[in-house]
Amino acid sequence: MHGVPSGAPGRPGRISRRIAAVEPSATLAIDAKAKALRAGGVDVVGFGAGEPDFATPEAIVEAAVAACRDPRNHRYTPTAGLPELREAIAAKTRRDSGLEVTASQVLVTNGGKQAVANTFATLLDDGDEVLVPAPYWTTYPEAIRLAGGVPVVVPTDESTCFQVSAAQLEEVATERTKALLFVSPSNPTGAVYPRRAIEILGHLAAERGWWVVADEIYEHLVYGEGEQCSMPVVVPELAERAVVVNGVAKTYAMTGWRVGWMIGPPDVVEAATNLQSHTTSNVNNVAQRAALAAVSGDLSAVAEMRAVFDRRRRTICSMLSSIPGVSCFEPEGAFYAFPNLTGLLGRSYEGRRPRTTLELAEVVLDLVNVAFVPGEAFGAPGYARFSYALSDEDLEKGIERIAKLVAGSAD
Ligand code: PMP
Repeated sequence: MHGVPSGAPGRPGRISRRIAAVEPSATLAIDAKAKALRAGGVDVVGFGAGEPDFATPEAIVEAAVAACRDPRNHRYTPTAGLPELREAIAAKTRRDSGLEVTASQVLVTNGGKQAVANTFATLLDDGDEVLVPAPYWTTYPEAIRLAGGVPVVVPTDESTCFQVSAAQLEEVATERTKALLFVSPSNPTGAVYPRRAIEILGHLAAERGWWVVADEIYEHLVYGEGEQCSMPVVVPELAERAVVVNGVAKTYAMTGWRVGWMIGPPDVVEAATNLQSHTTSNVNNVAQRAALAAVSGDLSAVAEMRAVFDRRRRTICSMLSSIPGVSCFEPEGAFYAFPNLTGLLGRSYEGRRPRTTLELAEVVLDLVNVAFVPGEAFGAPGYARFSYALSDEDLEKGIERIAKLVAGSAD
């Protein structure tokens, strides 16, 4: 309503405590500023995007166009997803990760994000703890808290290639530990765990009776020596307590179509379906038909994207690493570089002296019109996430601008 101030935190009682406690995204201020600058005609180079810069493959789009004209898609369909799509997702999962599942173990969701939310809402009771290795995708802690759970953040850094160890998990685990959140390839670091490490962590979870929530949304974006392994495949004992989250967003350049899924034991999928029947019901049928075309087709489009991302990955890492004060861990997956920028803090940039990466992101945006996401957004101050889902030309232009700014800075 006009005239009524929004944003409840300052006004107790208007917004529920649960929702008022949701952290505002540390990326929002930068993002809003970058958009405002761009709208004003400024040539902003944006490294913030969490989505491929490719078009959805034509055959998928065609399937959606045809679906619009089919009256079957104009009505409600089963909450858990179109039966043929659930079948195709089960088949695709067997093909791609080797996990043996049936269609009844698949719940089609409104993007991988709803799969994450459904999963935690279905598994967690108040006070249940979830181990969340950091740097983490911003949504995990919020989805855990919204479900009444407690995220237990386990920090990692580049000295272990941003991989958490079993010893670290054991150190923070309690009787309330309910689940381990596991994502490989990782957003935001691009880290890909080797098979052996996955085996060790999976065995620990199985031994302790923890659930594993394995986010595999970047499964096909792995480069170099990296190998994608699914934790419940490597450790089959987890079958009864593993949920896999996935979707079409990253593999088929379909972020806007909003189709994801969760795969889990039948009782969990049934309970999550019940929840979804009261929140969003079935996912848009046209998008489901597009997803059906995607998962039942081949992987040639993602192979092409992967080759381009791989080239950009090498370019951005070497360009970032050649800036004095910056070191860049070489990511093996997803489409993000996650450099350590602590060496750039405390210097003077045209009279401004950022002390944190949050401040640095603002200074860089103001002075050279380059946007990146500060590590604070991922529970990792001192770092920053640079998406390389942008053109080679923009990528080089953006990093060159930062290099020039740093070269002109003073102690
Ligand atoms: N998991 C991870 C790690 C992600 O980075 C994303 C997208 N940023 C998602 C899940 C969810 O993707 P979507 O909801 O677009 O399917």
